[in-house]
Amino acid sequence: MIITIKVSKMSDFKRPDGRKNDELRPMEAKAGIIKRADGSAMFKVGNTVAYAAVYGPRELYPKFLQNPGHGILRCNYNMMPFSGSGERIRPGGNRRSKEISMVTEKALSPVLDLSEYPNAVVDVYIELPQTDAGSRCAGICAASIALADAGLPMKDLVAAISVGNLNGNLVVDLDKEEEDIEGEVADIPIAVVPSTGEITLLQMDGIVLKDELKKALEMGIKSCRKITEIQRKALKDKYKVDAKSEGE
Ligand code: ADP
Repeated sequence: MIITIKVSKMSDFKRPDGRKNDELRPMEAKAGIIKRADGSAMFKVGNTVAYAAVYGPRELYPKFLQNPGHGILRCNYNMMPFSGSGERIRPGGNRRSKEISMVTEKALSPVLDLSEYPNAVVDVYIELPQTDAGSRCAGICAASIALADAGLPMKDLVAAISVGNLNGNLVVDLDKEEEDIEGEVADIPIAVVPSTGEITLLQMDGIVLKDELKKALEMGIKSCRKITEIQRKALKDKYKVDAKSEGE
């Protein structure tokens, strides 16, 4: 059953879960959670949970896919069959997961330097056991921590969030209930390199005015700077634990 909620503009606008327009859902991140992977992380935003595991750099097969100039980043996004809000999701790739895998690669590549790894591939597997919108952004946040956890050369982390327009009200971090609101709704997932403000992912589903888009991007960049603090803390916490267990 699809429940649609009407939202009116401006003064009487309240988000369904009572958050302020620029308020993110509660977030949690952890690095180094999958021991056999070269790097791994969990990133949770509200009820959306993403796990990322990095394997590599390792030699890329078949060989015709290799690039002798530098290594290649390969991402694989997957929602688990029981992770959605309703029907079971058919396992395996589909058009949506292919698209999200591709934009995830493009969002992360600008910070990653694989020039020292010719003919190699770095595989990032992103699995979502639970989703409530914002899953591509949660996947990018988890993958970015996992790549850093793998010790790969990176200029910075990448943080991602969706910003949106709910009938003229600009909000950050839409949940599924908000994405399904009736009327003029725009969902704009963005990924940002926090140190430079460079936008490495910009998609849009819906309609937004030029000025609204500008404001929404500003809100998104600000949110990404907050998210990156959580990402950094996850990495620092992991090394604290590692150092402690080495000392024992
Ligand atoms: P994002 O998760 O990045 O916001 P979408 O806008 O495509 O991506 O999807 C919004 C939300 O809709 C997802 O997070 C998920 O909760 C839900 N969803 C997407 N595809 C399916 C599906 N095939 N079955 C059930 N729920 C889905």
